[in-house]
Formats: sequence, C-alpha cells, structure tokens
Amino acid sequence: MSAVTSGRAPVWFLRSYKDHDTHVAASVAVDIGTVTSRCGLTFTPVLHPIDGNPARLTAPTDELQICPRCCGGAT
Ligand SMILES: [Zn+2]
Repeated sequence: MSAVTSGRAPVWFLRSYKDHDTHVAASVAVDIGTVTSRCGLTFTPVLHPIDGNPARLTAPTDELQICPRCCGGAT
C-alpha cells in the first residue's frame, strides 16, 4: 500500500474542474508530478491558480465533482 493513504484520511486531487473528476490519490509520483487514483487513473493534477501547487483537498467541497468510484472505495 502507498504511504500516501495508509492510516490517513484520503487525499483528493482535481483531475479537472468537471463533474466527477476529483479523485482519491492511491499514490503520488512526486518526481514527475502525477497522481494515480484509487479508481486507476494516472493524471497530472490541476494546479492551484494562486500557489501553483497541485490542488490537493482533504475533503472535496462539491459532491458533484467527486469521482463515484473513488468515493465508493473510501469507506
Ligand atoms: Zn476516481
């Protein structure tokens, strides 16, 4: 298992601002800046418009943006 999620709350990344496109990170490749999600996608997260870091959330603010497959595996 990944050190990212084991024993911690899920970390969510925006793949895009579309609906159902915010995912739980299963692992993060810090050196190349990609995230592999719980549902099996590998993507470069959306960068925060202000600080330029990947938009990382402790909890999604908008349920419509949550990936149902990642959400279903979260509990
Ligand atoms: Zn997902």
